[in-house]
Amino acid sequence: MTKNIAVIRGDGIGPEIVSEAISVLDTVADLYGHTFNYTEVDMGGCAIDKYGDPLPESELKKCLDSDSVLLGAVGGNKWNDVPGNMRPEKGLLRLRAGMGVYSNNRPAKIWHQLADASPLKKSIVDKGIDFIIVRELIGGIYFGEHKTEGDTATDLLVYSESEIERIGRIGFETARKRRKKLCSVEKSNVLDSSRLWKKVMHRIAADYPDVELSDMLVDNCAMQIVKDPSQFDVIVTENMFGDILSDEASQITGSIGMIPSSSLGASDCGLYEPIHGSAPDIAGKDKANPIGTILSAAMMLRFSFDMAIEADAIENAISAFLDAGYRTADIMSDGMTQVGCKRCGEIIRANIK
Ligand code: NAD
Repeated sequence: MTKNIAVIRGDGIGPEIVSEAISVLDTVADLYGHTFNYTEVDMGGCAIDKYGDPLPESELKKCLDSDSVLLGAVGGNKWNDVPGNMRPEKGLLRLRAGMGVYSNNRPAKIWHQLADASPLKKSIVDKGIDFIIVRELIGGIYFGEHKTEGDTATDLLVYSESEIERIGRIGFETARKRRKKLCSVEKSNVLDSSRLWKKVMHRIAADYPDVELSDMLVDNCAMQIVKDPSQFDVIVTENMFGDILSDEASQITGSIGMIPSSSLGASDCGLYEPIHGSAPDIAGKDKANPIGTILSAAMMLRFSFDMAIEADAIENAISAFLDAGYRTADIMSDGMTQVGCKRCGEIIRANIK
């Protein structure tokens, strides 16, 4: 199979982790007889430096013309003072909106080899951590009007029934393929948008009688994720709540560097990226964990290219890396062998069967 992949290396650790993911994809291509063509796309701070714009139309078009997009991360202190609509992260929001990828899927699963890396007590980890956060990605407060007038600033949180329904259905469909439990997370005791969210979730629940729907307020959910994460199967929530809860969920699995994500809309063309940022504190030091990005590439194979066997091969290679006692700095523990970003990628490639 031939697939065209748009590659956004971005800023900070982005170029380092994406290089390792591409090398892994090339190994898979060689072993399984595929051709992956890569188109380099500038987005984020590097695009601001080059074009004065975090995502020029010509760069967005390269993504829209591809079969899928692999992204490292964007942003960094250098661009902190540029105006809001020109910040590196604005490029990312424009990309997500331009691709129409409204559904962001973020797994929170602990690798058994990393049980010690979780900050939670062993008794909690032993009950199991394996859930998915389905986050609405192109609506809500991140996409509402942002305004500062004098000493007052406002950000508008808007959701329509149709926006809630389409992400709600993804939540139910995702739960249907798993343990059939869907937890809808909102703040309906305070927000009108959350009351609408809850109403729509319960209306569409009638179409999924095999899935058990529950409701949870977001503040309680933040607490429950650390108290007893084993209770969750699939969480569906709006954009900002999902952003915050998924970072929390990632940390209880050991490290933010381990977690991939997929973002999909109406077509098979998806956006695949690790959930972490550009980690300026470790950029250029060969310290970054590339596994979240490599797992994102595996998700691309599974969800956009229908290459489940190849995706399994990558995930098994990562498991073998951990089994052999290798760890990057962020997941390092006593008795393990610490490796840098490059070496981590090399070992994973060598493990691909
Ligand atoms: P971050 O996720 O970049 O870093 C948080 C902490 O996690 C840091 O200590 C970092 O070293 C560590 N970390 C992150 N990824 C790691 C990896 N792969 N391996 C090892 N350690 C890792 O979050 P931040 O520091 O709040 O943000 C830094 C920049 O990234 C900001 O400009 C922010 O806006 C941007 N950002 C971008 C994205 C994105 O591109 N999708 C997401 C979040 C933040």
